Parts: sequence; C-alpha cells; structure tokens
Amino acid sequence: MGRMVALMRRGLGNAEIQDTLARIERTGHTARRLPTRKQAVVEIHGDATDRLAGELRSWPGVAAVHVGDEGYPLAGRFLRDVRSEVRVRGVTVGGREVAVIAGPCSMEDPETLLETAAAVRACGASMLRVGLFKPRTSPYAFQGIGRDGIDSVLEARRRYGLPIVTEVLDARDIEDLLEAVDVFQVGARNMQNFPLLTELGKAGRPVLLKRGFGATVAEWLCAAEYLLANGNDEVILCERGIRTFEPSTRFTMDINAIPVAKEMTHLPVIIDPSHGTGDARFVRPIAGAGVAAGADGAIVEVHARPERALSDRHQTLDLAGFGSLMTQLQSVALAVGRGLAPPPPAPEPLLAAGTEPGQGR
Ligand code: PEP
Ligand code: MN
Repeated sequence: MGRMVALMRRGLGNAEIQDTLARIERTGHTARRLPTRKQAVVEIHGDATDRLAGELRSWPGVAAVHVGDEGYPLAGRFLRDVRSEVRVRGVTVGGREVAVIAGPCSMEDPETLLETAAAVRACGASMLRVGLFKPRTSPYAFQGIGRDGIDSVLEARRRYGLPIVTEVLDARDIEDLLEAVDVFQVGARNMQNFPLLTELGKAGRPVLLKRGFGATVAEWLCAAEYLLANGNDEVILCERGIRTFEPSTRFTMDINAIPVAKEMTHLPVIIDPSHGTGDARFVRPIAGAGVAAGADGAIVEVHARPERALSDRHQTLDLAGFGSLMTQLQSVALAVGRGLAPPPPAPEPLLAAGTEPGQGR
C-alpha cells in the first residue's frame, strides 16, 4: 500500500477538486482532500501510486505530486520548493529581511511593558513578544498574569504598532486571545501537544512553533504538519536549544538545526538565543551565529529592568544590551546578504515611553 500527496493548482474551484478526487478513485485508489486553506492538497492511498503519480503529473489541475510516506509532506519541501513567507501586520518573516521579535519573558505591570515596547521598537525590533500564560517547570513559580494582561498588550500594540507574539498553553484560551494576539507561540514543552496544534490549525493566526528540547528536527516538522494539515500554513519554526550533557548553559543551542531545518522545510526558521543559552552574556554572540547560519529572525527576551523580571531574568537583556545586539545583527545580516526587517509604520502619534495607559487617546 503506497501513499502520495498531490498539490493542486491555486484558484481551483471545489467542483474541479471533487472531479479530481472522483477521477483518482476510479483508478482504484482512495483520495481525500486535506483541510488546507490556500491551496488544495489531496492525499492518496493505493497499490499503484507510482504509476498513478506519473499520470497525475499531466493533469492540468495538479501542480506537484510526491510519492512517499514521510510524516510531513506539507511542511517538507517535497511539493513546494519556494521558501514560504509569513506576513504579520506588514512584517514579513522568511523573506530577504531578518525579523527581530523582542520583549519580556512575562507580562508584569503595564508600565514596564510599555517602556520595554517603546525601547525595542526604537532599536528596530519588528514585533513584541510578551508571555501572558507561562509554562513553568514548577507549579510554585510565577505562572503569568493570563487574561489580565490582555488590555496592556492591546495598549502596547495600539501605541507602538508592533505585532504581538504570545504563548498559548491551552486551546480553550485561543478565542479570548484572538483580539490581542498576532502570532500564537507554541512553547517547547507543548511542541507535541497535538490537540493544541490541531486547534491552532483552525485559529486563522500565524503560529511560532518552538522546537521541543528533546525533539528531533523531523519530529519538529511533524508538529508543524499538524498546523498545516489542519488549515494553517502561516507557521514560523523556532530553534530554542536542546538538552545535552553540557551544564554550563541552560540548553545547548543547536545551530546545526537552522540550516538543517531550512534544507528540510520551506517554512521560515528563527532562533531564540535567550532560552538557548539561559544567560544574557551569551545572547548576542549566539543570536549573531543564528543569523549567520541562515535564521530568518530572532526572538529575544528584553526587559527595562531585567533584575526585577519575574521570569527568566538571567537570560534577559536590558535596553542597552538589546541596542548593541541590534547593531551587531544589522552587520551580520548585511554580511550574509540580508538586512533587518523594519518595524511596521508607526501609529500616529507615537506616544512617548512611560506615558500612562489611557492618556493621549
Ligand atoms: C518563552 O518563550 O518564554 C518560553 C517559555 O520558551 P520555551 O518554550 O522555548 O522554553
Ligand atoms: Mn522565557
């Protein structure tokens, strides 16, 4: 029994796809349409897939055919050889420019978030990261302020125009977060939370999928496949370090995984040097290494006063540290024929940092 997938041409109507399915079934194979959104994909099983593949390639509605039983036919480059770009409110991830996402590990108070957002934007970050729901190893550690932070996140986006990246731990929170979230982050610990991935497949928002620290690149791509196979092709992969025998850093940044993943997938791949090292002193060199190795972006923890941060303070850059990181990344990006993605156009008027929420409306 063989398996193959066929990518249909863009713009085909439902009737044409139903005709294709019927035509395939008449050859004795079974065929079903996957719930992808932009471009239809048909999965086919049967005994003579190789022969049928040759025939399918000549059908006018069929763009590409791949025979094989890999777990990630959509995330892989079998059907699609051009690199995919993910667009988030005017910021492109996966194009020529390297996108930097910066902000605190966790949302704490509104003033600190706004101050940090203003500063990272001024340094050239193109998106704001901020954790509302935090996946903490111990149940006694700060768990994040959850929904109570949504208004501040909305305020930060309204003032500074930066798209918001935040982690969702539980599919039941997706709906409440939709208003404030531009990219749903799936954390390393949830990379294989298949029900969550399935729901995010249907959520209609880009997803930043961290690699699990004990997961292989192929398993990471299979996790991405859950998003793609459920209708979401706006997926950004993020390498954030793996667990090894080396205790001198929190995790070991698998720089190899960046070019390796980019060889295996058309999806954008970014680097998280903050979690990968766990130490603010190493964030700048490792971010640079990631971009030199081909990362399409970096996600970095930054806080106006890291010493007071409620989570991940040792790996969090202060505002000056982030400024020098951006200066270095600019040079590294240029050295590899790229540049840094600018922030989206500023909302008018761009309010000063530290202004109380609600003022100036
Ligand atoms: C985070 O981004 O704050 C986080 C918890 O990351 P990870 O899932 O990679 O540990
Ligand atoms: Mn963190």
